[in-house]
Amino acid sequence: MRLWPAALVVCCVLLSPWLQAATTVKGVRIWASPDNTRLVLDLSAAPSHKSRRLTNPERLEIELADVSSLNLGPVSGSAALVKRVYATRTPSAATAVVIELSQSAAESIFSLPPSPPYGHRLVIDLKPQAYRSQSPAPVTEVKSVTPLPAPKIVTPSHATGRDIVIAIDAGHGGNDPGAVGPNGTHEKRVTFAISQMLMQMINQQPGLKAVLTRTGDYYIHPGKRPDVARQKQADLLISVHADAVKNRKAHGASVWVLSMRRATTEVGRMLEQTEQHSELLGGVAEVIKDSANERYLAQTVLDLSMNHSMVTGFEVAKEVLRELDKVAHLHKKEPQAASLAVLKAPDIPSILIETGFISNYNEERLLKDSGHQRKLASAIFGAVKSYFEQQPPADSMFAALKQQGRAVPTQSASVGQTAATADRIHRVKAGESLSKLARQYGVSMAQLRQYNKLRDDNIQIGQVLRIP
Ligand SMILES: [Zn+2]
Repeated sequence: MRLWPAALVVCCVLLSPWLQAATTVKGVRIWASPDNTRLVLDLSAAPSHKSRRLTNPERLEIELADVSSLNLGPVSGSAALVKRVYATRTPSAATAVVIELSQSAAESIFSLPPSPPYGHRLVIDLKPQAYRSQSPAPVTEVKSVTPLPAPKIVTPSHATGRDIVIAIDAGHGGNDPGAVGPNGTHEKRVTFAISQMLMQMINQQPGLKAVLTRTGDYYIHPGKRPDVARQKQADLLISVHADAVKNRKAHGASVWVLSMRRATTEVGRMLEQTEQHSELLGGVAEVIKDSANERYLAQTVLDLSMNHSMVTGFEVAKEVLRELDKVAHLHKKEPQAASLAVLKAPDIPSILIETGFISNYNEERLLKDSGHQRKLASAIFGAVKSYFEQQPPADSMFAALKQQGRAVPTQSASVGQTAATADRIHRVKAGESLSKLARQYGVSMAQLRQYNKLRDDNIQIGQVLRIP
């Protein structure tokens, strides 16, 4: 096999005995979520690897076979758990990548085949071990990533009762971009933007409260997303996505609910494939593929609460479609049924909204337009509010008002104010620092820190900041 001249230049450190070998390590990417840190090694070929844990300092060594060149830097992303990543030789003279950790962590390592825009990858998931003994940290309070909810106006008079909790799940995130549009728009960015707007609208509505499954640009397994909703005792889980198919003409929004049977429609199959495809990229909904799981699910759904969840999910889905119909084209006018991981919480009514086809040129343009995103968020908000006005949980403020024959108060900020609030949100881009943003927005760094509950001046790419 011939050696590429370019490889010769790159293989500085680890060259000599591996001239005949095939794999090159092209870089490392890191994402941190509140309870999981993911590293991805980008490779030129399918990796063959062994790993071992070493202590003093705490580190994970991943030995790679047949490495011809290794270029780790610059590492994109950072995580509190990872102190540094470097290349080394093992005692047996093999090439290894060492991940030095700030504390002991359990690892799970797996490889992923090429899936555009990525090539071969080795994924290393790390979970801090101390974390396991604690109860899970409430997601909305972790780090500084969460934008603070808009201040809430206390509802006047004697309507008592709890807030109805809506969990919003921005699809994909981190190394899982979701679907990618013809002009390169990442689904994860669209879903996050719409989710943030929806959160603000919900939090401005007395009697409703929003919680987010993901509060920044990181990956959460679809099956874990309902856990967040459960922790927060959510009354409803809304997962926000954008569709993609090969046929660029396909367009329009659709709403999905859990199906007891496998999704049998053509679109259902396409969605399942899309999601499977995403799973290869590192994320999203796992579909039920074998009959053993199917039976397991069938048993689960016998649960009465599941029944209630499914009915609620279906009714909310219909309401959402009614509202979306006013602001967007509908791909399907009725709720569609599928067996997707994010919809499978037996106790929480769940819907998945495909806000449009990011694979369609026109809809890709719309989906990244903040005005259109706001229309979609507003339609979803209207549907949720309307549904719970009709069917409020018994102990909620909405129920108390209904009993008193009173209308639910309107949002505590006007639409104009909502827009103004939303415009004062900044998503951190590469090369930005807190001091730069302070200058840009004409505020002090102290104000930014305080307003966003930052512990220090460190900000991360993808982090969302509120600007005072
Ligand atoms: Zn998706």
